[in-house]
Amino acid sequence: MAKQEDVFKTIVAHAKEYGFVFQSSEIYDGLSAVYDYGQNGVELKNNIKRYWWESMTMLHDNIVGIDSAIFMHPTIWKASGHVDAFNDPLIDNKDSKKRYRADVLIEDEIAKFDDKINKEVAKAAKRFGESFDEEMFRKTNPRVLEHQAKRDALHERFAKAMNDNDLAELRQIIIDQEIVCPISGTRNWTDVRQFNLMFKTEMGSTADGAMNVYLRPETAQGIFVNYLNVQKTGRMRIPFGIAQIGKAFRNEIVARQFIFRMREFEQMEMQFFVRPGEEMHYFDYWRQWRMRWHKALGMGDSKYRFHDHEKLAHYANAATDIEFEMPFGFKEVEGIHSRTDFDLSQHEKYSGKKIQYFDPELNKSYTPYVIETSIGVDRMFLSVFCSCYEDQDLGNGDRRVVLHFPAPLAPVKCAVLPLVKKDGLPEKAREIQHRLRFDFTCQYDEKDSIGKRYRRQDAIGTPYCVTVDHQTLEDNTVTLRHRDTMEQQRVAIDQLESMLAAEVSLNSLLRKLL
Ligand code: ATP
Repeated sequence: MAKQEDVFKTIVAHAKEYGFVFQSSEIYDGLSAVYDYGQNGVELKNNIKRYWWESMTMLHDNIVGIDSAIFMHPTIWKASGHVDAFNDPLIDNKDSKKRYRADVLIEDEIAKFDDKINKEVAKAAKRFGESFDEEMFRKTNPRVLEHQAKRDALHERFAKAMNDNDLAELRQIIIDQEIVCPISGTRNWTDVRQFNLMFKTEMGSTADGAMNVYLRPETAQGIFVNYLNVQKTGRMRIPFGIAQIGKAFRNEIVARQFIFRMREFEQMEMQFFVRPGEEMHYFDYWRQWRMRWHKALGMGDSKYRFHDHEKLAHYANAATDIEFEMPFGFKEVEGIHSRTDFDLSQHEKYSGKKIQYFDPELNKSYTPYVIETSIGVDRMFLSVFCSCYEDQDLGNGDRRVVLHFPAPLAPVKCAVLPLVKKDGLPEKAREIQHRLRFDFTCQYDEKDSIGKRYRRQDAIGTPYCVTVDHQTLEDNTVTLRHRDTMEQQRVAIDQLESMLAAEVSLNSLLRKLL
């Protein structure tokens, strides 16, 4: 097994062992691609959500939030195009009876060419050392050029088939590339079919009177159908945005990679309404702003990249993804889309209500254009969790697992630990914990040796431990231990609140954005 896969397995096991993420319905053998967040997971998730929410609604005068219902009138999904077009192309292997997304099988094949090229480059870099000119090598090495040509040809054929919605051609690509099922190892494929990803249920008490409704596959439509309500009651002037955090549901064909692709997940979406013709300016603005938001977390700038879309969704005239380097490669965490006036116009058409904006500066009415930023809370959680996980060698055969969470996101900010369980130290430690808990999530722990307690806090990513010892009783000072450096400093109890606040408050993170 590849090393990265091992790393990922270890991370997933750690997430369970330390109360971050559990398989849903585990005692009933689980429910596929549905997960529950545990006592530490929910804190990390809430902190991610607060970081997003406050950066949107508090740092922008012209963005307000809403919380719309998950159930909506079914015609909304007709208008939005989801009933007709929210499909994935699926294909089955007749021998293993396993189902795959045809587009993902082909994308994986394209990625194999990229891997081959990168391997050639890495090999040459090692051979040539300092004098290696990577750009020149990529342009001239015959093997690289051959892989690149095959990759580009495959990519072009694939993009065309996706754009044309040509399912037969997608199947033909799989046949021509000799793609085999990873389970059965055969090429015995069915035709490619479209599969709608929306969950359907019934609303109403009697079978006759029941109405078919969908679980929303995105939160965005709740914003569009409330556009007029918010614009009027909030006296909003364009440009302005509406933000929302909430659950979304997709019946994903192939759910894999832990919480990366779930059937029930959470989104943080913001729709920004602008004058027609100004959308590219704001598309660019939000593209930059959202990248800044990610990078402010300090997890390493090289872990992010943009990926511009070639196949645009039915509503978009420009789209890009922010990808993050997960243990299984660069993957989409967030999408930024220029949705034109598609959604509002569709709702105007289907509802028969006028959905327009009167622009006092231009003295005319129009349907606003929309820039959307859409990020999955769970994918964001996964990216933070994976990149902060470290199995650290401390020398002398000693190791620790530590989660280097950005302090404002850490589930527990501070642990208060009496050095020993006697001599009045527990009482003093409780006193400090009770003082700190008004501002910070705090834990009190007196069980086991101090070393073991530090390890436990490292494993859940607690940035600070406060240790109360005999000296504390004499001079009201404590030891403050820093998670990442493991350095300890002596500080006065009175200083703790201000010292911690400077490092762990969300405020400190938000200030980096402006
Ligand atoms: P993908 O191509 O990975 O299926 P998408 O392009 O369909 O994703 P969007 O519709 O743009 O995703 O949704 C916006 C965000 O919602 C994504 O960037 C992702 O973070 C999150 N998201 C989408 N589907 C899922 C899912 N099944 N599980 C977890 N998060 C998801």
